[in-house]
Amino acid sequence: KRIKVGVIFGGKSGEHEVSLQSAKSVIEALNPHQYTIVPIGISKSGNWQVGKNALKALEEEQNTAKKVSSSSSVSFINHQIGGLTSVSPQPSAQPVPSALVNDVDVIIPVMHGTYGEDGSIQGMLELMDVAYVGAGVLASAVGLDKVVMKQVFGSVGLPQVRYTSCTRQTWKASPLQVIRQVEDTFGYPCFVKPANLGSSVGISKARDREELQRAIELAAQYDRKIIIEEGLNVREVEVAVLGNDVPQVSVAGEIVPSSEFYDYKAKYVGGTSKLIIPAELTDRQRQEIEQYAVEAFQAIDCSGLSRVDFFIEKETGRVIVNEINTMPGFTRYSMYPKLWEASGMSYTKLLDTLIELAIERQNEKR
Ligand code: ATP
Ligand code: MG
Ligand code: MG
Ligand code: MG
Repeated sequence: KRIKVGVIFGGKSGEHEVSLQSAKSVIEALNPHQYTIVPIGISKSGNWQVGKNALKALEEEQNTAKKVSSSSSVSFINHQIGGLTSVSPQPSAQPVPSALVNDVDVIIPVMHGTYGEDGSIQGMLELMDVAYVGAGVLASAVGLDKVVMKQVFGSVGLPQVRYTSCTRQTWKASPLQVIRQVEDTFGYPCFVKPANLGSSVGISKARDREELQRAIELAAQYDRKIIIEEGLNVREVEVAVLGNDVPQVSVAGEIVPSSEFYDYKAKYVGGTSKLIIPAELTDRQRQEIEQYAVEAFQAIDCSGLSRVDFFIEKETGRVIVNEINTMPGFTRYSMYPKLWEASGMSYTKLLDTLIELAIERQNEKR
């Protein structure tokens, strides 16, 4: 009997477009002799669409929107974020096709960022008692919140950059206090990020007080919580983790960004960032990265998959954990599948494994 697989994509997140690209690759790669595929799209306004045309419909919606906005990449990015900040007046009014979701054997929620990677869709799938690929509610929520993630990583002793955080409200009420906190603990340059996002959306590097103010204002447009990190001079290395209770780690890959840092443009717009697989590392660095990746995965009680992002400080060679991504970019050209390919596992085999892991976890619950 063929396994019936629902692929959910899109969603009300700043990473809507990335999700469509990931889902397209996934749907194309699933073996039709082995699986019956049910595409399930969620529009930026929260409407659900099911069936063969769902992906096309969302892509068309996206193209229309692109034509309306100006052609500069900055406004293109801003437009995408429109889905997150301004299009959400009546989010809960949209019906969830529960009958359909109940009808499938396993769901692949190929969604990134808020509502997709933060435990909300995972919670819905738990309530429906259906198997799904990737992290559960807890790991998703902890992994997406950079502040809570760092607190949990800190509690198991993982090496991290220094950081501080504030809410939009505390920033408004006492900006000078936030600025002093930053300047007294690590100073400039620093990185300012919305706490709950991905794809570098809303992230900027600040070299002085004025840039810090602007960076916080920008991040505050995307999230009520903002994290500010010590900015280091680093190499960037990532590994892919796969498994449930006994996670496996792929070879490491290095990213050489085409911009000053690995920002949204360097990730998706320009496409000239370089991936070096396997990354050139000392044995010690490789060992540490592998160990920290498993520790990070287990610290948030993750399952299925994760991409763990590391920094290697250029001056010292020190390995530092940057973050975990519980639903990393999943196009054929994305780092996560490429790392497994380099480790001897094809894209199609990777999907088979993720589906097996989802079903295994579902059975483990009972
Ligand atoms: P992802 O798409 O991987 O989920 P994200 O939005 O969660 O990305 P981060 O990985 O935290 O964002 O940061 C994005 C990029 O910004 C990093 O890849 C790196 O280039 C740069 N960066 C972030 N924090 C720091 C830091 N503390 N020091 C130096 N560079 C940093
Ligand atoms: Mg991330
Ligand atoms: Mg991410
Ligand atoms: Mg990252």
